[in-house]
Amino acid sequence: MAEQSEELVPRESMDFDVVIVGAGPAGLATAISLKQRAADAGAEVSVVVIEKGSAVGAHILSGAVIDPVGLDHLLPDWRGDPDRPLKTKVAKDEFLFLTARRGVRLPAVALPKLMDNHGNFVGSLGNVCRYLGRQAEALGVEIYPGFPAAELLIGDNGEVVGVATGDMGVAKDGEPKPDFTRGMELRAKYTILAEGARGSLTKQTIARYALNKDSDHQKYGLGVKELWQVRPEVFRPGLVQHSMGWPLPNKAGGGSWLYHFDDRLVSVGFVVHLNYENPTLSPFEEMQRFKTHPMIRDVFAGGKRLGYGARAIMEGGWQSVPRLSFPGGCLVGDSAGFVNVPRIKGSHNAILSGMLCAEHVFEALTEGRANDEVSSYEEAWRSSPIGYDLKRVRNVKPLWSKYGTLVGIGLGGIDMWVNELLGYSLFGTLKHGKPDYATLKPLDQVTPIVYPKPDGVLTFDRLSSVFLSNTNHEEDQPSHLQVKDMGLQKRSEHDMYGGPSQRYCPAGVYEWVEDAGGVRYQINAQNCVHCKTCDIKDPNQNINWVTPEGGDGPNYVDM
Ligand SMILES: Cc1cc2nc3c(=O)[nH]c(=O)nc-3n(C[C@H](O)[C@H](O)[C@H](O)COP(=O)(O)OP(=O)(O)OC[C@H]3O[C@@H](n4cnc5c(N)ncnc54)[C@H](O)[C@@H]3O)c2cc1C
Ligand code: SF4
Repeated sequence: MAEQSEELVPRESMDFDVVIVGAGPAGLATAISLKQRAADAGAEVSVVVIEKGSAVGAHILSGAVIDPVGLDHLLPDWRGDPDRPLKTKVAKDEFLFLTARRGVRLPAVALPKLMDNHGNFVGSLGNVCRYLGRQAEALGVEIYPGFPAAELLIGDNGEVVGVATGDMGVAKDGEPKPDFTRGMELRAKYTILAEGARGSLTKQTIARYALNKDSDHQKYGLGVKELWQVRPEVFRPGLVQHSMGWPLPNKAGGGSWLYHFDDRLVSVGFVVHLNYENPTLSPFEEMQRFKTHPMIRDVFAGGKRLGYGARAIMEGGWQSVPRLSFPGGCLVGDSAGFVNVPRIKGSHNAILSGMLCAEHVFEALTEGRANDEVSSYEEAWRSSPIGYDLKRVRNVKPLWSKYGTLVGIGLGGIDMWVNELLGYSLFGTLKHGKPDYATLKPLDQVTPIVYPKPDGVLTFDRLSSVFLSNTNHEEDQPSHLQVKDMGLQKRSEHDMYGGPSQRYCPAGVYEWVEDAGGVRYQINAQNCVHCKTCDIKDPNQNINWVTPEGGDGPNYVDM
């Protein structure tokens, strides 16, 4: 049993066959597939999904160009559904290599077929999740938005037996407020973690059961996104454009996306790989600079910025996938690390992994098992379409990291071509370099990057951007951004690295403020957009992201 303070009333508990943490594509596909299997077998299975966002989709941020393979398998009739969430088909695929003033459009024939987007759809993954949520509820899945899973419940034999939602109405000093409400225990035969990139319970579970002992460490990027409505003259429905190169220096990896869809909407974003070295680099400002490129800026002239947000993306791929099963549960989707990095796509694998997991968990349930390890799921994924998708591109990210943008992209491209034509990689399976938190150089060893000031028309500051994320946190609650050792933060993060959290955080949460008392670390936790970058990139792993009160965080629309 999880520990409970003696003064607190015991939590009420509810029992289910399966509890799923996270209403993203992975969690919802798991739930739908379990119910479909039960209906086919004439069996009953009780499934609950809990979601920390105020509604399904509120915390979902993605590009998104979506490979429909997952949806086609999960809901074969979705394309004919008038309520379908994806309506814009990819019409044209462009890839640019940018220098500061110019750019080269790479011919489509030069791009590996693995990168081809024809047949895919452009849209909002948040809206896909809202659609999946409706489908799941119609099948009898219980979905509770506004309830973060704050704690794993551990049984007598060390197995996971469910999760507890967080207490509500706790003051900053930890004391209960008049509206205090105890969290609930959701007990289950199997607990599925579908928290997305760097989930807080997934992190604990991987550590508790040493799920990554045989895998390479995980790698991440940070994606910063804006949603615009643009002039009709520049709108090209179904255009999918990616770029690499400027504004990032050769040693920092990443690139942009620009997707045209629906009613004159353009999703624009920039991913920075979090293994960058220069602590003065700001992914937010790189994204702002990108929009000013002569080949890009005209798209936004006269347009209106509608939305803003940011989210970490998994980049470790095949060699970083941890063991997927543990006593009492499984990892699915980005919790498992199923993103194909060169394609910047994970939502199809999130859905496919939910279905694969459901297949094995349902089998275990029908055999009358509970709270044991569903190791058949772990054994199945590498030979499934997910394994096929990830294995072929496994060396692209290590090549980018090792050789920088110019040479790395070239080698990664050649590797994908060879894989496509001959079915193997020239490089075996490369290892990733250091974990992302260990790549920063001390401030005195780098040339500080100076960013231009925002113009308020095409480029913006953090605070006006965060406003568009509609993020909101109850201020009188314990901070969900826990700095374990404040002395270390000052000595190292501030004195040695120059306070990189002030620049990597895309929401302006962290500030080193100088006043009469000296320098202090100010944490504006209410601005947090739940991207999880601080949990990943802090050079001492001294920041721990935990779930805030239920429903807090961004309220993304069409993201
Ligand atoms: C910037 C960016 C661009 C991308 N572009 C594309 C693209 O164009 N195409 C594509 O296919 N993929 C893209 N991806 C990847 C894709 O978005 C992910 O692979 C996919 O969202 C993973 O689905 P998931 O269900 O595993 O996790 P998520 O979509 O992250 O969903 C997880 C859900 O769990 C909830 N949650 C987390 N922790 C808890 C908790 N403790 N308690 C309760 N709820 C919790 C979250 O609020 C969220 O709703 C992109 C990702 C990023 C970050
Ligand atoms: S505080 Fe951390 S999780 Fe929140 S927005 Fe900033 S970097 Fe992201």
